[in-house]
Amino acid sequence: MDMQTSFLDRLFDAGLLIDTGVDGLYGRSGQFEEVIAAFERLIDKVGGGDGAEAMRFPPGMNRAFFEQSGYMKSFPQLAGTVHSFCGGELDHMSLLKCMEVGEEDWTKDQKATDIVLTPAACYPLYPTVARRGKLPAGGALFDLQSYCFRHEPSKDPARQQLFRMREYICMGTEQHVTDFRQSWMDRGVEMMKAVGLDVTIDVANDPFFGRAGKMMVNNQRDQNLKFELLIPITSPSNPTACMSFNYHQDSFGLKWGLNLEDGSVAHTACVGFGLERIALALFHTHGLDVKDWPESVRATLWG
Ligand code: ATP
Ligand code: ZN
Ligand code: MG
Repeated sequence: MDMQTSFLDRLFDAGLLIDTGVDGLYGRSGQFEEVIAAFERLIDKVGGGDGAEAMRFPPGMNRAFFEQSGYMKSFPQLAGTVHSFCGGELDHMSLLKCMEVGEEDWTKDQKATDIVLTPAACYPLYPTVARRGKLPAGGALFDLQSYCFRHEPSKDPARQQLFRMREYICMGTEQHVTDFRQSWMDRGVEMMKAVGLDVTIDVANDPFFGRAGKMMVNNQRDQNLKFELLIPITSPSNPTACMSFNYHQDSFGLKWGLNLEDGSVAHTACVGFGLERIALALFHTHGLDVKDWPESVRATLWG
């Protein structure tokens, strides 16, 4: 049995994660959720003085905005769409027959709805803010949290298909948003230290699809557009990204028409916390029973 399977099995045995029969789709215990809630309160404490505007979107977004985002160009392999039955009574009869016989795929006649599963917490934000008109000269800051879907089934408990991302998103001048990103890299390291986690920060890239994607990967890395805060969870030699720090330059500003008061195109950056991954890092590092965690860690989380 490899390391990954055994950590997942230990989480199942302890009842922290609940097996649904699908890799990467888990229920969570009250204890697991309490750790996430405590860590989110820590995020609130650290980021709370910045005056971010909080918004919460559901885990599905407007399909038109999803299409406009270009997600299918870059990450078609990860996307999840919501399809529904839209037929009449005859269609219903053949649907039920199809399900009963089980030879054909009963989902083949399902029709796409106006909803797509949210791939990252910040995706619904850009068109929402663009609709408001120009951004103030001093920029804008937002606080989001959402369940996100990515079709990447895995036995690694840290790679889930439906997971929560807490994000801060900054819009403004290049200097403003790169300062924002740097300050959260420093804060992230401090926060993880305060809960006894061993972190490194490294340059990273997104999994852009296909041959054209290779160029995007190289460009993203060469320009230091993405950093990750890594913590060992499933493998000591291959630590897991528990936070990411993304600078989009003016690409989202141009795509969505985000402009500052002086008419210039806004630059944007977002900082994401992987909430399940942080909880898993805590359980992996300090043990599956929260009562056994170091006093300093418990004090940071539960005061
Ligand atoms: P990875 O390189 O591990 O796939 P990522 O680069 O795709 O991570 P981002 O797209 O930057 O991650 O997402 C922001 C944060 O969401 C990550 O830092 C991570 O903590 C979390 N995250 C991403 N994918 C998953 C997943 N499949 N399961 C759980 N958490 C995830
Ligand atoms: Zn984002
Ligand atoms: Mg990924």
